[in-house]
Amino acid sequence: MSVADVSAGVTRPSLDLAETLQLVADTIVESLGFEVAVINLVDEQDATSLVVAAVSGPDEVRELLLGRRQGNDGWAKLIAASEPWGKLRFLDHATAPSDPSDILTWIPDMPVSDEPDAWHPEDALFAPLQSADGRHLGMLSVDVPRDGRRPGPATRHALEAFAVTAALAIEHATLATESRRGVQRFTAVFESSPVAIAILSADRTIERVNDAYCRFLRRDRSELLGHSPMEFTHPDDRSLSESSSTLARTALPGPREPTDAVEKRYLLPDGSVVWGRLQLAPLNQVHDPGVLVAQVVDVTERKRSEDRLVRQAHYDALTSLPNRGESMVRLRRALADDIDAGSMTAVFFCDLDRLKLVNDGHGHAVGDAYIREVSKRISASVRDGDGVGRLSGDEFVVVLSGIGTPTEAIGMAGRIIDSVRQPLRIGAASFTPSLSIGIAYSAGPGTTADELLAQADAAMYRAKNEERGAWQVYDPSMSGSAVAKLELRHDVEAALREEQFVLHYQPIVRLADRSVTGYEALLRWQHPTRGLLLPGQFLDVILDSEYEAPVTDWVLRQATWDAARLDGQHRMSVNISSLQVGRRDLPQVVQEALSRAGLEPARLVLELTEDRLLSRPDGPALLARLRDLGVSLAIDDFGTGYAGLGYLQRFPTLDVIKLDRSFVSGLGREPVSEHIVRSVVELALGCGLQLVTEGVETEQQAADLLTLGVRYAQGYLFGRPVPVEEVCQPDVSVSC
Ligand code: C2E
Ligand code: MG
Ligand code: MG
Repeated sequence: MSVADVSAGVTRPSLDLAETLQLVADTIVESLGFEVAVINLVDEQDATSLVVAAVSGPDEVRELLLGRRQGNDGWAKLIAASEPWGKLRFLDHATAPSDPSDILTWIPDMPVSDEPDAWHPEDALFAPLQSADGRHLGMLSVDVPRDGRRPGPATRHALEAFAVTAALAIEHATLATESRRGVQRFTAVFESSPVAIAILSADRTIERVNDAYCRFLRRDRSELLGHSPMEFTHPDDRSLSESSSTLARTALPGPREPTDAVEKRYLLPDGSVVWGRLQLAPLNQVHDPGVLVAQVVDVTERKRSEDRLVRQAHYDALTSLPNRGESMVRLRRALADDIDAGSMTAVFFCDLDRLKLVNDGHGHAVGDAYIREVSKRISASVRDGDGVGRLSGDEFVVVLSGIGTPTEAIGMAGRIIDSVRQPLRIGAASFTPSLSIGIAYSAGPGTTADELLAQADAAMYRAKNEERGAWQVYDPSMSGSAVAKLELRHDVEAALREEQFVLHYQPIVRLADRSVTGYEALLRWQHPTRGLLLPGQFLDVILDSEYEAPVTDWVLRQATWDAARLDGQHRMSVNISSLQVGRRDLPQVVQEALSRAGLEPARLVLELTEDRLLSRPDGPALLARLRDLGVSLAIDDFGTGYAGLGYLQRFPTLDVIKLDRSFVSGLGREPVSEHIVRSVVELALGCGLQLVTEGVETEQQAADLLTLGVRYAQGYLFGRPVPVEEVCQPDVSVSC
């Protein structure tokens, strides 16, 4: 039986240990004059049993004993019955508890003597083998001294020395195995850990990495070993790197204590970025000074969803610009910085003109693309560091900080307006976007961000009212009307619900006999706190809001309903905003209003304001669709807007020209007014259009117009706009 076989089934001894123990046993037999020496080891797996690990003696004894397993009980009994002989135990045959025939079976020719010093087969001499900390490791036993005598002190000392040698050998082997196992376990844990781990040498290069680390950085081991993690770190995060001085300083807060974790970006071979949560700990400051264990947990997904949440909370999804909340935060910061620096902050409240027209006419996908493009144009026009944000659908804000003089900001507003105004094609549609900008400046430490934005908003309203696509600087006189309008925005919904809108009707007369030929429906708002409001006080608020369509639809329904119930065959003129003309379903709305009211289409006149809407390429087609319903179309406020005579050519569908009242009021004062009226009369005649003059207030004006050939007129002279009850009694009123 080989030594290797001996150790089979015993987990503790290694080959070296078995050899060492055999050497000890052989030496005892050869040098101390014993026939047999046996070394048993406590089985590591089962501490209650001992296994014979080394035997020296006759072959048959070796064969019989080597590898034999026996319970500890027998030994416990032996120890209990034996007497200490120094470090040895001696069991005198006279007190031996075991059956002597047991022992005599395997030592058959042992001479038995009754002399006190003679060795008796039932005697036993053994040494319990103990570790330095007193653990029971095994047993060394000897038997059958060749001189037949119990061993003297010299032999006993030598035996004790052999017992210590055997115990040391066992302990050493145990420790070596444990340490080897520890290394194996560490390696297994290291390699299979889902956490990316790298061991960094004192010079902060990578000495060892696990699979997870390779996977995390999408690189082979060979690409990592010997390199610094700095090489794989995002440049902006290198101060947080494993190699950085910051971490190096904090890397060794105490023995085995890890650093606080930092989250940083690593670069992958394709240039993309992953986020890792890095924690460093010294490996062993005594044996491996400066060596660090870097553990990196992949937090990319969490970071991305955090980023998404932050973006959703602070940025507008469509344009990626800061949203209202974030813009206000930035404005407050800019204000504070500018106060410190002694400079000014300028706020631009930018409102995209006629966005509704784009949305209604071309659908929301085109509307979105339109907004995105405008936002890009605004962002491209400002300086680096100026903040652009989106406040709501068609509202943007620009914050300019560090402004020295107001003219700087004004120049910038002009540039933004010009760059936005460039032609824009989206699919088949083409546009010329325009932006109205209100400008407000900070006036020292007292100005708050909210006030500044409200002032810019008020200035924007003025800009919009006066000329679209322009800028206005805030002055305190704006606040009253503009702020009042801002507040009105919130009241529109209630106004519709609670039927606060009313129509007043103003007659249109034949000048020759003052007979009424028709009425114009004019919108009024019976506001619960502000009283009766005229269109100039609220109409632009509605036209720029989502209530524009509901209000216009209501006006059409109410006016056609009232018209059908007025005496006679008067025509009813209804004002349609230019935005409404672009609405795809307008013909349908008109048709429904007519059918519901039971009004003949020929009795309805739609008054369209001449403005830039009419310059849209599909303008003639839109008007033709309305005209196909059988209604008449009038151009309102003729001569004031952008319309030139070319309009009449482009819009052969028109039936009526309403000459703006400014020409009438100029009669008798400005000779040019008379010329204009005369030419328009001729023009109307030539084109087969009916001409109505607006704003006739005096008999003189009426007489002059008649002389100039005007046949129809409208004005306070003939009647002010009045509620329908004062025109005649309608049957029923239409509700919203
Ligand atoms: P418009 O269509 O040109 O209407 C005529 C305006 O001139 C009315 O003002 C009317 O009250 C006023 N007016 C009539 N005769 C005289 C006069 O002799 N002297 C003076 N100084 N003014 C006179 P109002 O009602 O304030 O309406 C202003 C504008 O609001 C209208 O101008 C029209 O463009 C718009 N509007 C009115 N109602 C509606 C509506 O239901 N829908 C739309 N989209 N616009 C409307
Ligand atoms: Mg009108
Ligand atoms: Mg008019």
